[in-house]
Amino acid sequence: MTASSNPAAAGEFLPFCRPSIDDTDVAAVVETLTSGWITTGPRCAELEQAVCDRTGAAAAVAMTSGTAAMHLALLAMGIGPGDEVITPSMTWVSTPNVINLLGATPVFVDVDRDTLLVSPESIAAAITPRTKVIIPVHYAGAPCDLEAIRKVAGDVPILEDAAHAIGTRYGDREIGASGHAIFSLHPIKNITTGEGGIFVTDDTDLAATVRQLRFHGLGAEAWDRNQQGRSPQVEVQSPGFKYNLPDMNATLGITQLKRLDAFIERRAAIAREYHAGLPAGIEPLAVPTWDHGHAWHLFVVRVVEEQAGVDRATFMEGLKAMGIGTGIHFRAVHTHRWYRDHDIVAPGGLANTEWNSDRICSIPLFPGMSDADVSRVIDGIGEVCQATDVVSTRQGAPA
Ligand SMILES: *Cc1c(COP(=O)(O)O)cnc(C)c1O
Repeated sequence: MTASSNPAAAGEFLPFCRPSIDDTDVAAVVETLTSGWITTGPRCAELEQAVCDRTGAAAAVAMTSGTAAMHLALLAMGIGPGDEVITPSMTWVSTPNVINLLGATPVFVDVDRDTLLVSPESIAAAITPRTKVIIPVHYAGAPCDLEAIRKVAGDVPILEDAAHAIGTRYGDREIGASGHAIFSLHPIKNITTGEGGIFVTDDTDLAATVRQLRFHGLGAEAWDRNQQGRSPQVEVQSPGFKYNLPDMNATLGITQLKRLDAFIERRAAIAREYHAGLPAGIEPLAVPTWDHGHAWHLFVVRVVEEQAGVDRATFMEGLKAMGIGTGIHFRAVHTHRWYRDHDIVAPGGLANTEWNSDRICSIPLFPGMSDADVSRVIDGIGEVCQATDVVSTRQGAPA
């Protein structure tokens, strides 16, 4: 495998995303691999502490995926049959899937047409006496308006889906500083552990419950027992899962987290180039009007055929033919087969979600992109749209 942080050579396929792995990552993982302890242990604890230090969270529990973190957070919050959980349909399928697997019902709410963030109004309209949790998504690395959402939520707890939002700031605090949130450490996310996820919370009792659930429901983990030099009589407190994050993965997260600010800085610079260089009809998302720091996890555009001269399928095919990768984040969950078959939401009930679900497309955005890669994407898009009005002021991008 070639060093994955190298920029793609001209003509080489440019994926929409690629993890930034450097020599410090490789050296750290090799050290763990040869240390004699590769599953969950001191490196996992170190990553959890580093995430608390970075975000301001009181407690963090690392798991094998963001989905696992979401599953156990909801379980620990007592979600089960008969409960309703409010979430946008413009999200990854993992959240509604887990809600269903717990026997609860996802209640899909609409998003703002131009930020794709859930609005406090749509949440307020969906709250019933059965609502047990609200899951806003900090979509693409922009924060939801948490203060307004907390106001409409009242006593209903909020679990933030911050899969896109490690390093995102809302007001003067980072996402995760208070309340409950999950981060994903999947390779396409802003930092990675190969696969992984972290639950962060200001409720240390809830963290302890999640910690127990991630390892069989036992009162202690393998490393604790190993450290004591003998096996204490640990017992199942309540049946749990096997979601613990191995140290070989956690080690990668530690070195990645140290470079998070540099990653976000490069992502933001690329986003500025895109804002300045995209043709009419290729509409970027709006950024929130409230005080925030954007983590620029994704650069999402809406292909508006009437202005762009192409539909989304043609746009994506055209870029692919030029060796430029794209993705869709996301197809609205209520339009997937199982959700259609189970009448989870009436079609047409989520107008902004559905309009975007048919038009959104993520274009390449990752820290290892060279300036030439960025120009190649902008020029390629201009060509695909046969646009005559590609803005040529790429240097003068908005701040
Ligand atoms: C990636 C993602 C998840 C799940 O994370 P995994 O680590 O892949 O399980 C959850 N929600 C959103 C919005 C995501 O993008």
